[in-house]
Amino acid sequence: MFNITRIKLTLWYVAIVAVVSFGFSAIIYTGVISEIETSFRQAESRLQQMSPGPIPRRVALQILKEDFEKAKNSVLYRLMVINGVIIGASGVAGYILAGKTLRPIEQMLIEQKRFVADASHELKTPLTALRTELEVALKRKKINTKEATGLLKSNLEEVINLQKLSEDLLRLTRYTQSFERSSFEEVDLEITMNESVKKVAPMAKLKRIKIVKDIKKIRVRGNKGMLAELMVILLDNAVKYSPKKSTITVKIHGGRGAVIQVSDQGIGIHPKELSSLFERFYRADSSRSKNETSGYGLGLAIAKQIVDKHSGDISVSSKPGLGSTFKVTLPS
Ligand code: ADP
Repeated sequence: MFNITRIKLTLWYVAIVAVVSFGFSAIIYTGVISEIETSFRQAESRLQQMSPGPIPRRVALQILKEDFEKAKNSVLYRLMVINGVIIGASGVAGYILAGKTLRPIEQMLIEQKRFVADASHELKTPLTALRTELEVALKRKKINTKEATGLLKSNLEEVINLQKLSEDLLRLTRYTQSFERSSFEEVDLEITMNESVKKVAPMAKLKRIKIVKDIKKIRVRGNKGMLAELMVILLDNAVKYSPKKSTITVKIHGGRGAVIQVSDQGIGIHPKELSSLFERFYRADSSRSKNETSGYGLGLAIAKQIVDKHSGDISVSSKPGLGSTFKVTLPS
């Protein structure tokens, strides 16, 4: 489809250039020819008035006429050559330009197709589990209350997961789209972090995880809701991938802009997986195997989008078995 569009665009370029070029040539041709014609008429009338010389007047006039025709043809030929070169060059340039113009659109479409394919794949797994459970239960002649409750609980869990997945997908799509920087305001990172810590506190409490804070009062320009979401993602992961009774340290300090750091003493990430961590749907091998750490690998992709929208940077350092530190740098 893109190749056909590229050729169509090239043909349009060439057609426009050809119209302009032929238009100019027609003007030049008419001007030059009328000049030559005037000179020819003058030479002709001078010849008529001259007394007959060694060359008969008729022959001299014939030579003049032939020269005039030659000059006309030569102008026409040169203009045609120039037009040919211009059209040929514009065809090549048009093809290259059309390719360059279409490439980002093509890239965006490929990316969108991949997103839809990935999303459908992720949605299929919990939906299939849900359907199988229900079908198996329906095939049974009798089902007691305990079994029915168990089934409903399991179904509800799947539905909650699906709801979270669709919400994350929507959020990711929203953040990938162009974004109004006018919604930026002064955000107090200390207040935002304290609010975010409160959100994950119940989950941390369940695992008896301590959250230690070392936070300086720093403000940045940004979107408060998005920054809060970013902090919750990092804190939520730190809790999810940490063992019971461990410690999570949250630091916010200044520098060039603001630096937010979330460190844990969790399972860590293998060095070969670090570079893929911020890709959507990516889950490290260590977390795939653990059922308790449910997730779809969208959190860090959303975090990256939020940081990008704030022209910041996000990085991770980790030692398997010892813990990880996620570092976000935001311009002030
Ligand atoms: P999710 O946690 O839902 O799987 P994320 O995008 O938030 O998705 O994280 C992607 C992967 O990065 C996780 O599956 C996990 O393997 C790894 N990860 C993220 N944060 C941590 C962490 N603090 N400690 C260890 N691994 C982590």
